[in-house]
Amino acid sequence: MLKANGYGHGASAVAHAAIRAGAERVCVAITAEGVQLRNDGVETPILILGYTPAGDAETVVRYKLTPTVTTADTALALADAARQRRIVQPVHVKLDTGMNRFGLPPADFRPFLRFLESLASLQIEGVFTHFATADEIDKAFCERQFRTFLEATRELAPGILRHAGNSAAAIDCPEMALDAVRTGIAMYGLYPSAAVSRVVELRPALTWESAVARVATLEPGDAVSYGLTWTAPSRSVVALVPCGYADGLRRALSNRGRLLVHGQPAPIVGRVCMDQCLVNVTHIPGVQVGDPVVVLGTAGAHTVSADEHAALADTINYEIVCGLSERVPRLYVRSDELVAVQHPLDRVVAAP
Ligand SMILES: *Cc1c(COP(=O)(O)O)cnc(C)c1O
Repeated sequence: MLKANGYGHGASAVAHAAIRAGAERVCVAITAEGVQLRNDGVETPILILGYTPAGDAETVVRYKLTPTVTTADTALALADAARQRRIVQPVHVKLDTGMNRFGLPPADFRPFLRFLESLASLQIEGVFTHFATADEIDKAFCERQFRTFLEATRELAPGILRHAGNSAAAIDCPEMALDAVRTGIAMYGLYPSAAVSRVVELRPALTWESAVARVATLEPGDAVSYGLTWTAPSRSVVALVPCGYADGLRRALSNRGRLLVHGQPAPIVGRVCMDQCLVNVTHIPGVQVGDPVVVLGTAGAHTVSADEHAALADTINYEIVCGLSERVPRLYVRSDELVAVQHPLDRVVAAP
């Protein structure tokens, strides 16, 4: 699952790693994400899971993407574009089994499949659904959705792929795996929720690092950052970290979160700004400009997890990693070896 820039990790690098590791297909949410992967040399089938408007049909066909179709106008536009190129365009069809977000209602499913079968330049490659509550302890609704899906797809032509599971179902309901699972968050080493079983040991793929940009000594009563919301109670040492909410460090962590400096937790003091924040390092001796700072990850005996950021920001780990902005360079490490770097400044804009 590579949507949202590979959950913030960098879609193309993750695609290549996943394919190397055996993934036969990858998924994105929208057409443009598929185009980006193709432009970065990804040749494996790419399934677009979200709604594809008819206007995307030309692009879908040209870039050999596999869309999800649920409407006649998109199907007809795809069929036209495919016929013009003399190809047979594979499509998947989504069934809404109770999440009521996207997909065809069960009553419309078979008639729509029959309609697609009448379009010679389209081929139904797969059908799928999505679970609303697979990450909860109570799997009753998930099981109901699964039964609805099985029932609706019972008389499908052989060879059509059926898939339903997300990470939570892949871990907790292996009996629902069918022909494929769409593993997202778990592939990045994060659990979908606290309720999902820990039978699979996941390790976060991502460590987010910064480095100390300034060290300052404050006198008692000195206050820091916008609004002066934190005041030094005694002589204190604070370190400036060039990492802020525009990078993805949530502002909700102001005066609540912690980063790791020299393997020690350093509390965020004052407000997290757009580009910078401050941490209290009074208790950590010898902090200097350039010292590494772990924003997310493990250092020494301590770990700051995406779940910790999420809890403080009243959200889920998904939103924390997806929120890592383009400004943060991505370094890709395989077996302790740096294998790729993606830096925002690499995209040089030619001057006129
Ligand atoms: C995002 C998404 C997934 C992956 O979900 P995870 O919880 O990250 O595993 C699977 N299927 C669909 C349709 C999705 O939108």
